[in-house]
This record gives sequence, structure tokens and C-alpha cells, in this order.
Amino acid sequence: MFQKILIANRGEIALRVLRACKELGIQTVVVHSTADSDAMHVRLADESVCIGPPPSRESYLNIHQIVAACEITGADAVHPGYGFLSENAKFADILAAHNITFIGPSGDHIRIMGDKIEAKRTAKRLGIPVVPGSDGAISDEKEAKRIAAAIGYPVIIKASAGGGGRGMKVARIEADLEVALQTARSEAGAAFGDDAVYIEKYLEKPRHIELQVFGDGAGRGVHFGERDCSLQRRHQKVWEEANSPALNAEERARIGGICAKAIADLGYSGAGTIEFLYENGEFYFIEMNTRLQVEHPVTEAITGIDLVHEQIRVASGGGLSVKQEDIKFNGHAIECRINAEDPRTFTPSPGTITHFHTPGGLGIRVDSGVYSGYRIPPYYDSLIGKLIVHGRNRVECMMRLRRALDEFVVDGIKTTLPLFRDLVGNPDIANGDYDIHWLEKYLAKEE
Ligand code: ADP
Repeated sequence: MFQKILIANRGEIALRVLRACKELGIQTVVVHSTADSDAMHVRLADESVCIGPPPSRESYLNIHQIVAACEITGADAVHPGYGFLSENAKFADILAAHNITFIGPSGDHIRIMGDKIEAKRTAKRLGIPVVPGSDGAISDEKEAKRIAAAIGYPVIIKASAGGGGRGMKVARIEADLEVALQTARSEAGAAFGDDAVYIEKYLEKPRHIELQVFGDGAGRGVHFGERDCSLQRRHQKVWEEANSPALNAEERARIGGICAKAIADLGYSGAGTIEFLYENGEFYFIEMNTRLQVEHPVTEAITGIDLVHEQIRVASGGGLSVKQEDIKFNGHAIECRINAEDPRTFTPSPGTITHFHTPGGLGIRVDSGVYSGYRIPPYYDSLIGKLIVHGRNRVECMMRLRRALDEFVVDGIKTTLPLFRDLVGNPDIANGDYDIHWLEKYLAKEE
């Protein structure tokens, strides 16, 4: 087991990882920018190293500084959290070259899944169902037209290097295709420095369902069931549930089995998430994330298994603590992402939190790094916390969520809490009857 883990992240996820390390008796080092000197993860860690000024590229994305911090403190492993360097293959390779363990998959697996065209090809090879579309990058408009005609409109043009919902354009008819192709290509080039795009069938009313998987790096793979993340705004998840209100145990076991086998065949190590669109009873792979997800706590709530403990165990060579048959699904869980944003316009609302009171009681978990008097710096993501609620079934979970949202107080800044208070009373949400476009339509109506 590791002696000392360096946590290369900030905010709630840094705290989340720190808690797991403490439980396992592992010493912790955190790195932070000058804007985060008073952050909770810095206060609670055994050691901290300031690695640079506020902009991420000079601090949380600065590989040299992070490696230097490992060497100074003698950390033998790095947990990257999510975002920042968590899916940076070069970072994983550099750590390996310094004999520091990257708590995550190999650089090669990160590289394959980071390139969406390559990821889709790999998924297909491993027997995972994919969205119909081009086999690789599209070279010109003629090819795009030919493929679109074959799969049928509407189609979506997506960036191979895409992420965060950027570089995607829909073409409903052939006349839209040229503009969609050009805009997707130029957006991708500007955002990712790589203008390779591919084309796939645009699904009209899918749900976003993702499978939590784990590989032990020695040829064993398991799945921890699915999460439904269909409630999205601008392709960003807002509310997540486990299990999905749309799946039954049989469908879960079937797609879970396919994913676990794929992970085993790939020889994958650590946590991963295989994302699908789900429509009319069919699954269509869209991408795989090779890290812990923001929404992992809903899976923890219904399985009772600490996924960060598992990540650390696997990375240290100790293997998974569970076999597939040990993973049981108990009840229902929902996570609300609480952002420091206006609940209608979603413009960021940094500033000082004058009062912070979190709900409690059975089935309630709040993962957050903020506190009363904390000043949210304007440089980073606006996620300030996550409310995760668990109940014996979805109805109980929703009742508890409504109560917990009423108790939650964040004063001094705007947050997305009022949006969740509205959603929890909505009949479609109560019935679990929504797809990936539901929230955008709801917000447009409310305006
Ligand atoms: P990113 O990596 O940018 O998040 P994804 O491929 O994961 O991109 O897609 C993000 C979201 O975009 C999905 O959750 C879904 O809402 C939408 N999307 C992606 N592909 C399709 C498709 N073929 N049809 C309909 N919607 C899609």
C-alpha cells in the first residue's frame, strides 16, 4: 500500500480523495494555487505545497510543479481527481517515468479513450454497441453526405478530441450539412487544436446512461451498475441518479456484463465510465471516461462501496475488494450538483459565502469544500458542492431530497439550489420521465 498520496486537484473532489486516504491510513499531500491557500483541502491535509498562481495552466495543470511537489514531499502516488490532469496521458507517463504511481489507468488506455474516433473503434471491437456513423474521421463534405444519406438524417458532427459538450453540430437535412461540418471543424480546431471530426446518427430522445466499471489491471473487470445523467444543460450534467428509472435488472445485467467483459479484455486498470445514449431499449456507446466521475457518489450510495478506496487498492496492486457477485444494488440515490451560478441564467456567481448550512439525517451526504466565510475564487469551475440523497426506493429518495433541499442554506452568492427545489416538485421528474433534452425545454418554458 502507498505511504503518501499527493492529490492533484482542488475543491470537493480533493476533499473526497483526502477522506479516503485518511480512512486507509495513508499520509496526504495537497497542491494548491495561491488563490486556494485557505481552501478546506489545504487545511485538512497532512502537508501542502503551493504550486503557482491562480490560472490553472500555471498551477493545477503544471506537470513539472506537481512532479517536483511529489519529489519534495516523497509522495509515492498521485490521485488526479476529475478534470485538470485526470485524463492527461502525458502526465500518467511522466509520473511512471519518475516511479510515482498514477492512480488511474495506463497512459495508453487514456490515449485511446481520449481520442473519440479511436475510442469508438475500440468499443466496437470489444463488442460494445455504438451509434451508427462514420468509421473514422470525415475527410470532406462529399464523404459526409454519403454517410449521412446511408445512416439517415438527422446526424451529428462531433470532434474527435471533444469534451465538455463542445465541437458538436446537428444537421437535420442535407442542406445543413456543409455549415455543420465547417463549424464543428473550426470549433474543434480552436478548442482542442485538432480539427478531426466524425459523423453519427443524431438520436432524438435518448437518455444518457453510463456504466461504472473497474478493471484490476490483471484481466478482471466488474461493473457497478449504471447512472442516469439525462438531466443536462448544454451537454453538462445537472442531476444524476442510480439506478436509472428507465432500466430493469435484466437490462442492467446485460449491458453491465458486456461492459465488464470489455474492460477485462482491454486489461484496463482502475475506474472508468462507459457512456451510452439509450433509446427504444437500445444502448449506443458515445465515449469512455478514464477517471472517477463527479457523480460517482450515487453509485457508492446504492452499492455501499467506496470507489476511491477501490481505485487506491487497484493502483497499489492490491486488486479489487469485490467480485461481481458481491456488488448488490440497494435502493435509489440522486445527486444534485450545486453550482455558484444564477439558477436561471447560469452565469457564475463567485464571491463570499456569508452563511453555509448543510442538511443532515439518514441517507444524506454533502460533498463540499466550502464553509461560512469562504470566498469562492473566480478562476475555477463553479461546482461548490454535491447533495447526494439515498432512499430505499425512488419515492423515498425524492421525499428525502425535497426535505434536504429545504434545509440547505447558502447565503451571499447565487446557487442552483432553487432550480433543484423546482425540479423535485415536477411531475415528469417524479415519474422519472425525461430524456437528454427535457431540462433545456423546461428552462426555455420558464423564461
Ligand atoms: P463530451 O465529451 O463533449 O461530453 P459526448 O460524446 O459525451 O461529448 O456527448 C455529450 C452529450 O451530447 C451527450 O450526453 C448527449 O446529450 C449529446 N450527444 C452526443 N452524441 C449524440 C448523438 N449521437 N445523438 C444525440 N445526442 C448526442
